[in-house]
Amino acid sequence: MPNISPIPAFNDNYIWLISNGNSAAVVDPGDAAPVARALAERSLTLDAILITHHHRDHTGGVKALLARWPEARLYAPAAEPMPAASGTALQEGDRLTLPSLGLELEVMAVPGHTLGHIAYHGQGLLFCGDTLFSGGCGRLFEGTPQQMHLSLSRLAALPEDTKVYCTHEYTQANLAFCHAVEPNNPELKKYLQNVAKLRQQGLPTLPSSIGLENAVNVFLRAHVPGVRAAAQHHAMAELNGDAEVFAALRRWKDDF
Ligand SMILES: [Zn+2]
Repeated sequence: MPNISPIPAFNDNYIWLISNGNSAAVVDPGDAAPVARALAERSLTLDAILITHHHRDHTGGVKALLARWPEARLYAPAAEPMPAASGTALQEGDRLTLPSLGLELEVMAVPGHTLGHIAYHGQGLLFCGDTLFSGGCGRLFEGTPQQMHLSLSRLAALPEDTKVYCTHEYTQANLAFCHAVEPNNPELKKYLQNVAKLRQQGLPTLPSSIGLENAVNVFLRAHVPGVRAAAQHHAMAELNGDAEVFAALRRWKDDF
């Protein structure tokens, strides 16, 4: 298995560096400089760039990285503007093989945060961009709550031991919201303490796992009676179905 480590960028972004021997791929390089530094420190050649969606903090470094490593292949969502002309457009069900990294990934369409957002999964790994965060999910800039709920439900159905590589360090703030919704969730209480310790030491809280997110992340738990009750209480309305509960949670979080 390749080695995977976060390259911090901007205030709270992580650019994931996947490496094996001399080769590397990066996911969502919003900034080229920290990536170039990390590659130089480790004497790595950039073989591939994977993009999950079109936002600038995920694509801003693409052109500079391709200028420096012209052999690197670029993969990005088919339904969004390609960040550089040489890219390969990917959609639901496409497979992508990175032989130098021993990695084969499958593409899932996960609309909601943006309409063309894709995620990459395979070999127990999930690179989900701004769709799923630890304890949270992306804001609905382009999609509907129904679309995002379906996208998250599909991610939640991946094997429980799948490692989740999100692109922002939002965990602590997200968990404060989860705790407001589910104050008596014992798994959440445990996780809150672990995350507080990691952040005190300045360490990343990621990757998470699908099993952990299913246990603590209220945006994956709209079907849980206590979560539904809390959402109904906050919305002061009866909510019909999990997608409506999800929509109410998302609105609640937007003002939290
Ligand atoms: Zn985004």
